[in-house]
Amino acid sequence: MIPEQVPNHVDGKDAPAASGEWLDKFAPADGSLLCRVARSGAADVDAAVAAARRAQPGWAARTVVSRGDMCREVALAMREEREGLSEIVVAETGKSLDAARGETDAAIEMGFFMAGEGRRFYGRTTTASMEHRTVMSVRQPLGVAGLLISFNTPLPNVAWKVFPAILCGNACVLKPSEHTPASAHALATVCYKAGLPDGVLNIVQGLGPEAGAALVEHPDVDLVSFTGSSATGRWINEAAGRRLAKVCLELGGKNALVVCDDADLDNAVLWALASAFSNAGQRCASASRLVVFESVYDEFRERLMAKARDFDAGPVISEDALERLVAAGAERVDRPGYWVEPTVLEDVAPDADVSCAELFGPVTILYRVRDLEEALRLVNDSPYGLTAAIHTASIHRAMRFAEQARAGVVVVNGGTHGSEPHMGFGGVKQSGTGWREAGVEALDVHSDWKYVNLIADVART
Ligand code: NAD
Repeated sequence: MIPEQVPNHVDGKDAPAASGEWLDKFAPADGSLLCRVARSGAADVDAAVAAARRAQPGWAARTVVSRGDMCREVALAMREEREGLSEIVVAETGKSLDAARGETDAAIEMGFFMAGEGRRFYGRTTTASMEHRTVMSVRQPLGVAGLLISFNTPLPNVAWKVFPAILCGNACVLKPSEHTPASAHALATVCYKAGLPDGVLNIVQGLGPEAGAALVEHPDVDLVSFTGSSATGRWINEAAGRRLAKVCLELGGKNALVVCDDADLDNAVLWALASAFSNAGQRCASASRLVVFESVYDEFRERLMAKARDFDAGPVISEDALERLVAAGAERVDRPGYWVEPTVLEDVAPDADVSCAELFGPVTILYRVRDLEEALRLVNDSPYGLTAAIHTASIHRAMRFAEQARAGVVVVNGGTHGSEPHMGFGGVKQSGTGWREAGVEALDVHSDWKYVNLIADVART
């Protein structure tokens, strides 16, 4: 189901990297060699961008309804291939088949959502200061979209960028994570089987500083849309900013889940565990900080610890990730592959490195606070601002938290993770640059607004 060699996909055809080199990709579940990945560089990026540039005008000339129809065809084809796609994700990431199926379904839903947007694609029509003039705004494609993504939920990561990009009339060059090349390749194959014209979606595999950097710096790429770490995002913003490309960054988080003294503790424990440890904590929205009122701290801690060790978090993505987590205080599990124990740290100062830096693994930190005031201070005392959750029975506390937490997403009585295809997702501060993915908000990333004036010559009526 996963080819021994995962190639690039340019202009509708599979191709090895121009260098002829391949990277090794290992299975997180057992550390075995899973496949080899095309190690692309600037020449491959040039070919992919040229193919996208050639394909884009014809694609943009179709009506947006027709481009939406293609999103629907791709989503339907993905549904046909649901099991196969999910199994590839399991092999590449080590997550459970159930989790992978859920992600495949989420990716499919994004296709259906964007298909519907092809029937809306609303602008504004309004009056003007001059007689007989009407003004309106219409969306325009950007041209070639350079899309760079993380490994953590590989199919939704592709879907969240590719569906809005193609709906808006762009052609894409996608650089998947070197850790999840096969699911991106399989998805491209599904797209072409569903009828997507050659060159509208091109895939360049390889390493970030090689293939990724060449894509970011390519002068013919109009949009750089990136999902990944803040460190890489900062470099991308500078590099793409130098040539004044449009840049959308969706970055990391250090998300807090607050447990008040009036919370349903069983529910709070359930969501704390899922938010901190599911997907091995490799979520931008994972709960890496648990902020608990002191009057319920011991009880919450006891219930959490009782369940944490048995939580089936799955392996992390690579040996490097594992070593980074062990250095931060997690324990390696004695089995082949990249497994660490779900870890709860305590007595960590809020300004310690581990409190401030995103760990991107199954490690969370417990903090003790007196009241909501102190909890809010701690929640907001972070370089990041992606998501935040509160557990309380009080509508007043919930409303105050929703108003004052500095985050792009707030959840009451649930987890810090989770999204809806029709709601914009993204963060503040170092979690992003203000754009939102998913929802109609994603259309703003992938299109430009044009302001059109229509003036009637009354003498000729
Ligand atoms: P990463 O920054 O290491 O890599 C992300 C992508 O960028 C990969 O495809 C990688 O190959 C590429 N890349 C790396 N260096 C590059 C460079 N110099 N130039 C161009 N491309 C480069 O991140 P990761 O470890 O894959 O993902 C984890 C991060 O992603 C976490 O910080 C997580 O919070 C974030 N993330 C954010 C969201 C969100 O929506 N905000 C969603 C998922 C993941």
